[in-house]
Amino acid sequence: MTDRTILVGMTTQELEAFAEQLGEPKYRGRQLAMWIYRKGVITFDAMTDLPKAFRERLGEFAVINPLQVIDVKVASDGTTKYLSQLPDGETVEFVFIPHSDWDTICVSTQVGCPIGCKFCASGTSFSRNLTAGEIVGQVLIARHRENPNIVFMGMGEPLLNFDNLVKAIRLLNREVGIGARRMTVSTVGIVGGIRKLAQLGMQVNLAVSLHAPNDELRGKLIPAKLPPIAEVMKACWEYFQATKRRITFEYVLLKGVNDKVEHAVELARLLKGLPCHVNLIPYNPTVDEFERPSESAIERFRQILADKGIPVTVRHERGTEIQGACGQLRRQHLATLEVKT
Ligand code: SF4
Repeated sequence: MTDRTILVGMTTQELEAFAEQLGEPKYRGRQLAMWIYRKGVITFDAMTDLPKAFRERLGEFAVINPLQVIDVKVASDGTTKYLSQLPDGETVEFVFIPHSDWDTICVSTQVGCPIGCKFCASGTSFSRNLTAGEIVGQVLIARHRENPNIVFMGMGEPLLNFDNLVKAIRLLNREVGIGARRMTVSTVGIVGGIRKLAQLGMQVNLAVSLHAPNDELRGKLIPAKLPPIAEVMKACWEYFQATKRRITFEYVLLKGVNDKVEHAVELARLLKGLPCHVNLIPYNPTVDEFERPSESAIERFRQILADKGIPVTVRHERGTEIQGACGQLRRQHLATLEVKT
Protein backbone atom coordinates (compact mmCIF):
# COMPACT_ATOMS: atom_id res chain seq x y z
CA MET A 1 0.00 0.00 0.00
CA THR A 2 2.74 2.45 0.88
CA ASP A 3 4.31 2.66 -2.58
CA ARG A 4 1.02 3.78 -4.06
CA THR A 5 0.01 7.42 -3.88
CA ILE A 6 -2.37 8.20 -1.01
CA LEU A 7 -5.08 10.59 -2.18
CA VAL A 8 -6.70 11.68 1.09
CA GLY A 9 -4.55 14.55 2.25
CA MET A 10 -4.20 16.11 -1.22
CA THR A 11 -5.87 19.37 -2.15
CA THR A 12 -7.96 19.66 -5.32
CA GLN A 13 -4.96 21.28 -7.04
CA GLU A 14 -2.72 18.40 -6.01
CA LEU A 15 -5.30 15.91 -7.27
CA GLU A 16 -5.45 17.79 -10.58
CA ALA A 17 -1.68 17.48 -10.92
CA PHE A 18 -1.90 13.79 -10.03
CA ALA A 19 -4.58 13.19 -12.69
CA GLU A 20 -2.33 14.88 -15.25
CA GLN A 21 0.58 12.67 -14.22
CA LEU A 22 -1.61 9.70 -15.08
CA GLY A 23 -2.27 11.22 -18.51
CA GLU A 24 -5.77 12.49 -17.75
CA PRO A 25 -7.17 16.00 -18.15
CA LYS A 26 -6.91 18.28 -15.14
CA TYR A 27 -10.63 18.27 -14.37
CA ARG A 28 -10.44 14.59 -13.47
CA GLY A 29 -8.64 15.76 -10.30
CA ARG A 30 -11.66 17.88 -9.41
CA GLN A 31 -13.88 14.85 -9.91
CA LEU A 32 -11.60 12.83 -7.63
CA ALA A 33 -11.81 15.51 -4.95
CA MET A 34 -15.59 15.52 -5.18
CA TRP A 35 -15.84 11.74 -4.84
CA ILE A 36 -13.31 11.44 -2.04
CA TYR A 37 -14.08 14.42 0.14
CA ARG A 38 -17.69 15.35 -0.52
CA LYS A 39 -19.25 12.01 -1.39
CA GLY A 40 -16.92 9.98 0.82
CA VAL A 41 -16.63 6.96 -1.47
CA ILE A 42 -14.11 4.34 -0.50
CA THR A 43 -13.50 2.54 -3.80
CA PHE A 44 -12.52 3.76 -7.26
CA ASP A 45 -15.28 1.61 -8.75
CA ALA A 46 -17.83 3.82 -7.01
CA MET A 47 -16.57 6.85 -8.99
CA THR A 48 -19.05 6.20 -11.74
CA ASP A 49 -18.36 9.25 -13.91
CA LEU A 50 -14.68 8.36 -14.34
CA PRO A 51 -13.73 6.23 -17.36
CA LYS A 52 -13.21 2.57 -16.50
CA ALA A 53 -9.61 2.60 -17.75
CA PHE A 54 -8.78 5.56 -15.45
CA ARG A 55 -10.38 3.81 -12.50
CA GLU A 56 -8.24 0.77 -13.19
CA ARG A 57 -5.10 2.88 -13.33
CA LEU A 58 -6.06 4.55 -10.08
CA GLY A 59 -6.44 1.13 -8.50
CA GLU A 60 -2.92 0.31 -9.64
CA PHE A 61 -1.20 3.53 -8.60
CA ALA A 62 -3.24 5.02 -5.78
CA VAL A 63 -5.16 4.32 -2.60
CA ILE A 64 -7.89 6.59 -1.31
CA ASN A 65 -7.62 6.59 2.48
CA PRO A 66 -4.37 5.81 4.33
CA LEU A 67 -6.42 4.26 7.17
CA GLN A 68 -7.71 0.72 7.22
CA VAL A 69 -10.34 0.05 9.86
CA ILE A 70 -9.38 -2.99 11.91
CA ASP A 71 -11.86 -2.76 14.78
CA VAL A 72 -15.14 -1.00 15.46
CA LYS A 73 -16.90 -0.90 18.81
CA VAL A 74 -20.41 0.53 19.08
CA ALA A 75 -21.86 1.47 22.46
CA SER A 76 -25.56 1.21 23.15
CA ASP A 77 -25.96 4.96 22.73
CA GLY A 78 -24.39 4.83 19.26
CA THR A 79 -20.99 6.17 20.30
CA THR A 80 -18.58 4.36 18.01
CA LYS A 81 -14.87 3.86 18.45
CA TYR A 82 -12.75 3.00 15.46
CA LEU A 83 -9.31 1.48 15.49
CA SER A 84 -7.45 1.86 12.22
CA GLN A 85 -4.11 0.77 10.90
CA LEU A 86 -1.78 3.25 9.22
CA PRO A 87 0.46 2.46 6.24
CA ASP A 88 3.48 1.83 8.51
CA GLY A 89 1.56 -0.56 10.76
CA GLU A 90 0.92 1.93 13.58
CA THR A 91 -2.66 2.23 14.80
CA VAL A 92 -4.86 5.18 15.61
CA GLU A 93 -8.19 5.56 17.40
CA PHE A 94 -11.03 7.95 16.78
CA VAL A 95 -14.57 8.24 18.03
CA PHE A 96 -17.95 9.11 16.53
CA ILE A 97 -20.50 10.52 18.98
CA PRO A 98 -24.05 10.90 17.68
CA HIS A 99 -26.58 13.42 18.92
CA SER A 100 -30.06 14.14 17.72
CA ASP A 101 -29.12 17.49 16.19
CA TRP A 102 -25.42 17.18 15.52
CA ASP A 103 -22.62 14.63 15.55
CA THR A 104 -19.16 14.97 16.98
CA ILE A 105 -16.08 13.23 15.68
CA CYS A 106 -13.07 13.13 17.97
CA VAL A 107 -9.85 12.61 16.05
CA SER A 108 -6.29 11.85 17.06
CA THR A 109 -3.36 13.91 15.85
CA GLN A 110 -0.43 11.78 17.00
CA VAL A 111 0.34 8.11 17.51
CA GLY A 112 0.63 8.03 21.29
CA CYS A 113 1.20 11.24 23.19
CA PRO A 114 4.35 12.90 24.52
CA ILE A 115 2.52 14.78 27.30
CA GLY A 116 1.95 11.85 29.64
CA CYS A 117 -0.82 13.19 31.89
CA LYS A 118 -0.80 11.13 35.07
CA PHE A 119 -4.51 10.31 34.89
CA CYS A 120 -4.44 9.28 31.23
CA ALA A 121 -4.56 5.57 30.51
CA SER A 122 -3.36 5.85 26.92
CA GLY A 123 -0.97 8.76 26.66
CA THR A 124 1.98 6.85 27.93
CA SER A 125 4.09 6.49 24.82
CA PHE A 126 4.72 8.58 21.76
CA SER A 127 5.53 7.21 18.36
CA ARG A 128 5.03 9.86 15.68
CA ASN A 129 2.92 12.68 14.31
CA LEU A 130 0.01 11.85 12.03
CA THR A 131 0.05 13.27 8.52
CA ALA A 132 -2.72 15.63 7.42
CA GLY A 133 -4.17 12.79 5.32
CA GLU A 134 -4.19 10.48 8.33
CA ILE A 135 -6.08 13.10 10.34
CA VAL A 136 -8.61 13.83 7.59
CA GLY A 137 -8.95 10.10 6.88
CA GLN A 138 -10.41 9.60 10.37
CA VAL A 139 -13.17 12.11 9.67
CA LEU A 140 -14.02 10.55 6.31
CA ILE A 141 -14.44 7.14 7.95
CA ALA A 142 -16.41 8.32 10.98
CA ARG A 143 -18.63 10.86 9.21
CA HIS A 144 -22.25 9.73 9.24
CA ARG A 145 -23.87 12.92 7.94
CA GLU A 146 -23.10 16.45 6.77
CA ASN A 147 -21.26 19.00 8.86
CA PRO A 148 -20.24 17.19 12.04
CA ASN A 149 -18.35 18.94 14.81
CA ILE A 150 -14.71 17.96 14.72
CA VAL A 151 -12.75 17.95 17.93
CA PHE A 152 -9.00 17.43 17.88
CA MET A 153 -9.09 15.80 21.28
CA GLY A 154 -8.13 12.21 20.64
CA MET A 155 -4.71 10.85 21.26
CA GLY A 156 -1.88 13.33 21.02
CA GLU A 157 -1.23 17.03 21.51
CA PRO A 158 -2.46 18.74 18.31
CA LEU A 159 -0.29 21.84 18.64
CA LEU A 160 2.85 19.72 18.73
CA ASN A 161 1.90 18.58 15.22
CA PHE A 162 1.11 22.09 14.09
CA ASP A 163 1.74 22.05 10.33
CA ASN A 164 -0.14 18.82 9.72
CA LEU A 165 -2.94 19.97 12.01
CA VAL A 166 -3.36 23.21 10.07
CA LYS A 167 -3.22 21.41 6.73
CA ALA A 168 -5.89 18.99 8.00
CA ILE A 169 -8.11 21.86 9.18
CA ARG A 170 -7.81 23.52 5.76
CA LEU A 171 -8.62 20.29 3.95
CA LEU A 172 -11.62 19.66 6.19
CA ASN A 173 -12.78 23.19 5.64
CA ARG A 174 -12.15 23.67 1.92
CA GLU A 175 -12.38 20.16 0.53
CA VAL A 176 -14.74 18.36 2.91
CA GLY A 177 -16.83 21.49 3.52
CA ILE A 178 -16.88 21.56 7.33
CA GLY A 179 -17.08 25.06 8.80
CA ALA A 180 -14.00 26.17 10.76
CA ARG A 181 -16.32 27.18 13.61
CA ARG A 182 -17.36 23.56 13.95
CA MET A 183 -13.81 22.52 14.73
CA THR A 184 -12.14 22.62 18.15
CA VAL A 185 -8.43 22.27 18.78
CA SER A 186 -7.71 21.01 22.27
CA THR A 187 -4.34 21.70 23.81
CA VAL A 188 -2.71 21.13 27.13
CA GLY A 189 -1.31 24.68 26.85
CA ILE A 190 1.30 24.88 24.12
CA VAL A 191 1.65 28.65 24.13
CA GLY A 192 3.64 29.00 20.90
CA GLY A 193 1.08 26.89 19.07
CA ILE A 194 -1.87 28.89 20.45
CA ARG A 195 -0.24 32.10 19.24
CA LYS A 196 0.54 30.71 15.79
CA LEU A 197 -3.02 29.41 15.47
CA ALA A 198 -4.38 32.82 16.46
CA GLN A 199 -2.26 34.49 13.78
CA LEU A 200 -3.66 32.28 11.02
CA GLY A 201 -7.01 34.02 11.36
CA MET A 202 -9.03 30.81 11.22
CA GLN A 203 -12.24 30.66 13.17
CA VAL A 204 -11.55 27.36 14.91
CA ASN A 205 -12.37 27.01 18.60
CA LEU A 206 -9.72 26.58 21.22
CA ALA A 207 -10.05 24.27 24.21
CA VAL A 208 -7.40 24.26 26.92
CA SER A 209 -7.01 21.23 29.18
CA LEU A 210 -6.02 22.99 32.37
CA HIS A 211 -6.89 20.47 35.12
CA ALA A 212 -5.32 22.65 37.84
CA PRO A 213 -5.48 26.33 38.80
CA ASN A 214 -1.79 26.70 39.66
CA ASP A 215 1.55 25.57 38.25
CA GLU A 216 2.53 23.44 41.21
CA LEU A 217 -0.52 21.20 41.06
CA ARG A 218 -0.52 21.18 37.27
CA GLY A 219 3.09 20.03 37.30
CA LYS A 220 2.08 17.04 39.41
CA LEU A 221 -0.73 16.05 37.04
CA ILE A 222 0.97 16.88 33.75
CA PRO A 223 4.67 16.06 33.99
CA ALA A 224 5.63 17.41 30.53
CA LYS A 225 7.50 20.71 30.74
CA LEU A 226 4.87 23.28 29.87
CA PRO A 227 4.83 27.09 29.87
CA PRO A 228 3.46 28.54 33.14
CA ILE A 229 -0.30 28.99 33.43
CA ALA A 230 0.13 32.78 33.38
CA GLU A 231 1.64 32.48 29.90
CA VAL A 232 -1.15 30.17 28.79
CA MET A 233 -3.72 32.71 29.97
CA LYS A 234 -1.98 35.50 28.06
CA ALA A 235 -2.04 33.39 24.91
CA CYS A 236 -5.72 32.62 25.50
CA TRP A 237 -6.51 36.31 25.69
CA GLU A 238 -4.63 36.86 22.44
CA TYR A 239 -6.53 33.99 20.87
CA PHE A 240 -9.82 35.51 21.91
CA GLN A 241 -8.81 38.95 20.66
CA ALA A 242 -7.76 37.53 17.27
CA THR A 243 -10.71 35.20 16.71
CA LYS A 244 -13.48 36.45 19.01
CA ARG A 245 -14.10 32.79 19.82
CA ARG A 246 -14.90 31.96 23.43
CA ILE A 247 -12.27 29.68 24.94
CA THR A 248 -13.21 26.36 26.54
CA PHE A 249 -11.31 25.15 29.59
CA GLU A 250 -11.37 21.48 30.44
CA TYR A 251 -10.88 20.45 34.01
CA VAL A 252 -10.82 16.81 35.02
CA LEU A 253 -12.04 16.58 38.61
CA LEU A 254 -9.94 14.20 40.70
CA LYS A 255 -11.09 13.36 44.22
CA GLY A 256 -9.03 15.09 46.87
CA VAL A 257 -6.50 16.33 44.31
CA ASN A 258 -7.92 19.31 42.42
CA ASP A 259 -11.58 19.37 43.53
CA LYS A 260 -11.33 21.46 46.70
CA VAL A 261 -12.99 24.79 47.44
CA GLU A 262 -9.69 26.64 47.19
CA HIS A 263 -9.06 25.17 43.73
CA ALA A 264 -12.43 26.36 42.47
CA VAL A 265 -11.84 29.83 43.91
CA GLU A 266 -8.37 30.02 42.37
CA LEU A 267 -9.69 28.82 39.00
CA ALA A 268 -12.44 31.43 39.02
CA ARG A 269 -9.85 34.13 39.76
CA LEU A 270 -7.66 32.94 36.91
CA LEU A 271 -10.46 33.03 34.34
CA LYS A 272 -12.09 36.25 35.50
CA GLY A 273 -13.07 38.49 32.61
CA LEU A 274 -12.05 36.11 29.82
CA PRO A 275 -14.96 35.03 27.59
CA CYS A 276 -14.81 31.33 28.32
CA HIS A 277 -16.64 28.22 29.35
CA VAL A 278 -15.47 25.58 31.81
CA ASN A 279 -16.20 21.90 31.28
CA LEU A 280 -15.85 19.93 34.48
CA ILE A 281 -15.13 16.28 33.76
CA PRO A 282 -15.58 14.03 36.79
CA TYR A 283 -12.89 11.39 36.52
CA ASN A 284 -13.96 7.96 35.35
CA PRO A 285 -11.30 5.80 37.02
CA THR A 286 -8.90 4.17 34.57
CA VAL A 287 -5.73 4.73 36.58
CA ASP A 288 -5.65 3.34 40.14
CA GLU A 289 -4.04 6.43 41.59
CA PHE A 290 -7.12 8.63 41.13
CA GLU A 291 -10.78 8.53 42.08
CA ARG A 292 -13.95 10.25 41.01
CA PRO A 293 -15.15 12.96 43.42
CA SER A 294 -18.50 12.57 45.16
CA GLU A 295 -21.54 14.18 43.53
CA SER A 296 -21.62 16.79 46.31
CA ALA A 297 -17.96 17.74 45.71
CA ILE A 298 -18.63 18.06 41.97
CA GLU A 299 -21.66 20.24 42.59
CA ARG A 300 -19.80 22.38 45.13
CA PHE A 301 -17.01 23.04 42.60
CA ARG A 302 -19.51 23.88 39.88
CA GLN A 303 -21.49 26.20 42.13
CA ILE A 304 -18.41 28.18 43.17
CA LEU A 305 -17.52 28.87 39.54
CA ALA A 306 -21.13 29.69 38.65
CA ASP A 307 -21.45 32.06 41.62
CA LYS A 308 -18.38 33.90 40.42
CA GLY A 309 -19.88 34.36 36.97
CA ILE A 310 -17.92 31.68 35.13
CA PRO A 311 -20.07 29.69 32.66
CA VAL A 312 -19.62 26.07 33.67
CA THR A 313 -20.99 22.65 32.74
CA VAL A 314 -20.49 19.24 34.31
CA ARG A 315 -20.02 16.69 31.56
CA HIS A 316 -21.60 13.30 31.88
CA GLU A 317 -20.26 10.32 30.10
CA ARG A 318 -21.77 8.26 27.32
CA GLY A 319 -20.73 5.02 25.73
CA THR A 320 -18.93 3.90 28.85
CA GLU A 321 -18.66 0.29 27.79
CA ILE A 322 -16.13 1.18 25.13
CA GLN A 323 -12.74 2.72 25.73
CA GLY A 324 -12.20 6.27 24.52
CA ALA A 325 -9.19 7.49 22.60
CA CYS A 326 -7.71 9.84 25.15
CA GLY A 327 -7.52 7.93 28.40
CA GLN A 328 -11.32 7.85 28.51
CA LEU A 329 -11.26 11.34 29.81
CA ARG A 330 -11.82 13.65 26.97
CA ARG A 331 -14.53 11.46 25.54
CA GLN A 332 -16.65 11.99 28.61
CA HIS A 333 -16.58 15.63 27.82
CA LEU A 334 -16.87 15.06 24.11
CA ALA A 335 -19.98 13.01 24.48
CA THR A 336 -21.97 16.09 25.22
CA LEU A 337 -19.83 18.72 23.61
CA GLU A 338 -21.76 21.21 21.60
CA VAL A 339 -19.75 23.62 19.50
CA LYS A 340 -21.74 26.78 19.20
CA THR A 341 -21.40 28.50 15.86
S1 SF4 B 1 -4.86 13.18 28.46
FE1 SF4 B 1 -4.52 13.76 26.28
S2 SF4 B 1 -2.79 15.23 26.42
FE2 SF4 B 1 -2.78 14.06 28.34
S3 SF4 B 1 -1.42 12.31 27.96
FE3 SF4 B 1 -3.52 11.64 27.48
S4 SF4 B 1 -3.62 11.93 25.24
FE4 SF4 B 1 -1.93 13.21 25.97
